[in-house]
Amino acid sequence: MTEAVTSSLLGMDREEITTLVVEAGEPGYRAKQIVDAVYRQRVETLEEISTLPQEFREQLAQRGVTVGAARIEKKFVSVDGTVRYLIGFGDGQSVETVWMPEGDGGEAGDGSEAGEEAEGVGLSTSGAKAQSQGADSNAGLEGLLHPLAHTRKSGGRSTICISSQVGCAVDCQFCLTALLGVKRNLTAGEIVAQVCAVLKDQKVSPPEDRINLVFMGMGEPFLNYENFVKAARLLVEGVGIAERRMTVSTAGIVPRIRDLGEEKIRPKLAISLNASNDALRTQLMPVNKKWTLEMLMAAARDFPLRTREWITFEYVLLGGVNDAAENAKEAAELLRGMRCKVNLIALNPGPGIDFVTPSAERVTAFQNVLRSAGIPAFVRRPRGRDIYAACGQLKRTVEVATLREPRDQTISAAPPEG
Ligand code: SAH
Repeated sequence: MTEAVTSSLLGMDREEITTLVVEAGEPGYRAKQIVDAVYRQRVETLEEISTLPQEFREQLAQRGVTVGAARIEKKFVSVDGTVRYLIGFGDGQSVETVWMPEGDGGEAGDGSEAGEEAEGVGLSTSGAKAQSQGADSNAGLEGLLHPLAHTRKSGGRSTICISSQVGCAVDCQFCLTALLGVKRNLTAGEIVAQVCAVLKDQKVSPPEDRINLVFMGMGEPFLNYENFVKAARLLVEGVGIAERRMTVSTAGIVPRIRDLGEEKIRPKLAISLNASNDALRTQLMPVNKKWTLEMLMAAARDFPLRTREWITFEYVLLGGVNDAAENAKEAAELLRGMRCKVNLIALNPGPGIDFVTPSAERVTAFQNVLRSAGIPAFVRRPRGRDIYAACGQLKRTVEVATLREPRDQTISAAPPEG
């Protein structure tokens, strides 16, 4: 798997841009001008960086430096306001990025609850402390935060769902992206570029606009760990999205869960649980062979949570497969005593997916078992189903891709045709 060779500014941190500036014999303050232009104004060409002298811009261009902005190739708008973007990169590869406007109360699970804690903090003394700590962690790019960082518009609270890889290698049996296999990792710049492209298209700008970010699009972020972490850092320090408004979801790459806990700047953690015992989880998510539930739960329990932070467990409900009350009881046992909540997602169907969506009653019954066991559980509302933007549906990138071998039918709960 090769990564696109790039000398794009997007993806470079303040230090790297400073090196570039100094090597060119320009004064150090140009670095801030570039960072500002690329991450805050979200320019798309060197030409647009009007704070730089023309000769310097030309010199950069001659050295093969570009902004590295992504191209919006296609845009599909759902009746519910969700927008699915097909976003293309220099080498012709593309991924999907989803815009979900105005959360739905958060807990219904579009991921926008990621920012809810931060919402409260401004109101209390401890919150003020949390905010100043947040500001400390921005020290690397100090001065870049917008002066209105601590105010917000009323209303809007939108979520961007971004991809971390072209395709995915994890092969979860209910996920459409899995059918593509993995083409390549995205660079940190390409991960950030998705956000910049969508912010620009939607004409919004954090922190004035409340934007939540979820690493829940195509790919397994923890199998592209370095680039994911760097992107998260750039999104905080450069673009101005608060750490607490970001959530990364993993299929359960245990060593990287442990690494994430050590990061100074990191999103919140979500784990795709999706089954209540090893036998079932291994069938649905082959990754469970390598990192079993015991290993996964141990890493989750050890994860160093911050004040008012919790771990989110996602559970895709597959009719007749993992959605029985018994499964809910087992899941509750696994999660007992953890500072966590569960987001239940009824399967979003798609071609090549041999499972069925459970009835609303079954979903509610599952939720109730968890709740009676004292575990906060929420049902995620599917967003943008009509445009194939919902969870696990992102694979249109290679619309004509030949699907791989039909999947093993043995665990399929699909009823016979007709
Ligand atoms: N690889 C990461 C992030 C991408 S998947 C992970 O596995 O967590 C994001 C979420 O979508 C996961 O919780 C996954 O279980 C869920 N998902 C995948 N396919 C789905 C489908 N067909 N219907 C509903 N949710 C799905």
